[in-house]
Amino acid sequence: MSITIIGAGIAGLATAISLAKHGVSVQIFERSAALTHIGAGIVLWPNAIWVLKKFGLLEKVIARSAALQNMRRFNSENQSLGCLSIERINQHSGFTSRSILRADLLEILLAEALSLGVDIFYRHPVERIELCAEQFKVHFKHRKSICSDAIIGADGRMNSVVRKYLLPENNPVYQGFVNVIGTAKFASDSDSPLDVLDYWGTGERFGIVPVGANSAYWAAGWSSEKHIQDRNINPEQLLEQLQQRFANWPQPVQLLLENANLSSIKKLYIHDHHPSDTWSKGKILMLGDAAHAALPTSGQGACQALEDAWWLAHCVGLQGLTSESFRQFTQFRKEKTDNIIYSGRQIAKSIFNPDSEACKLRDRQSQQTDFSLSAKAMADFWMSGLS
Ligand SMILES: Cc1cc2nc3c(=O)[nH]c(=O)nc-3n(C[C@H](O)[C@H](O)[C@H](O)COP(=O)(O)OP(=O)(O)OC[C@H]3O[C@@H](n4cnc5c(N)ncnc54)[C@H](O)[C@@H]3O)c2cc1C
Repeated sequence: MSITIIGAGIAGLATAISLAKHGVSVQIFERSAALTHIGAGIVLWPNAIWVLKKFGLLEKVIARSAALQNMRRFNSENQSLGCLSIERINQHSGFTSRSILRADLLEILLAEALSLGVDIFYRHPVERIELCAEQFKVHFKHRKSICSDAIIGADGRMNSVVRKYLLPENNPVYQGFVNVIGTAKFASDSDSPLDVLDYWGTGERFGIVPVGANSAYWAAGWSSEKHIQDRNINPEQLLEQLQQRFANWPQPVQLLLENANLSSIKKLYIHDHHPSDTWSKGKILMLGDAAHAALPTSGQGACQALEDAWWLAHCVGLQGLTSESFRQFTQFRKEKTDNIIYSGRQIAKSIFNPDSEACKLRDRQSQQTDFSLSAKAMADFWMSGLS
């Protein structure tokens, strides 16, 4: 059995690993010259850890990641809005959530894929796909083409060629907010707990996720009605804008901005997808962000890409590399990923609400929340289907 995957992000590499472990011969075509990534870091929640353990990669991930204790929420004046115990989520699910830099996770996945004999071809941007008799013809921008019996589109949220093939009219949906993301290194007291710090303002947010005692990744966000074409803005200018916008925010925000790694700073206008029923046609399938991009506020995009990889190999193990296994995969995955898209939207609507009265009410509700119930509900939802 052999298959072609388009895209060497988290979904593409993890799917390659999972299928290669089931005896499938895999080749990946990636448009970039080397591994690239959107987002500075990710939290691997218990469901992602479950998958990484199945792949035999947990030790390697533990060596390059950090266990988190709490997620502490504040308003922009540093008043507490509550605390979610991540340790409680871990206890309910039986797996320890960990934060990791995206580049480190990709490196671990890449090394594993290569060791399993997966072929990766960089600088191969796919332009379009067409059905030719029983096979798919994959056309690259530099005019070469190849034929393949089966295709997996793991080519991301914004311009997926496979999504275009399956759903020509379906475009990513701008959700009205901007994220500026980056990493930082700083001096710190190594005994302090590794807590996620989440600051909420009026239509603005600043989140900090430690990945070790003296390093973190961060995301600043604010509501913005329009998707402005400001690609030429450089990291120094972006940092200056952030320092102005968040000038009066609490000290950890200032510390992060003072120590931001300039080359890591990126600005993104955040899009997701409306859920769709069609993820495959015959032996072409999309997964990861190409199939079900959720907003970063869901906290689950990469975790779901890892789940996809495990589920696809499970279906292929049961039914072979057939159109039926692709249909079955969609059935297994759709409800959970739809719910994650909806929850990402609901959270974003509340966090990036520009109305100050609505934000005061939201903050009071947060202070009254029983976070131990939230921890249980999150663990139950994220672990659903995995046993
Ligand atoms: C700001 C931000 C923060 C986030 N934070 C988190 C988080 O904390 N936790 C979490 O779980 N998720 C997070 N996410 C979501 C997460 O980034 C995605 O869900 C995850 O990266 C999806 O992986 P993927 O492999 O499907 O897509 P991608 O990571 O986008 O990978 C797609 C790959 O396909 C390649 N490609 C694209 N088009 C072509 C083509 N035509 N030909 C060849 N190759 C192609 C790309 O170069 C890329 O390598 C965040 C997202 C954003 C935007």
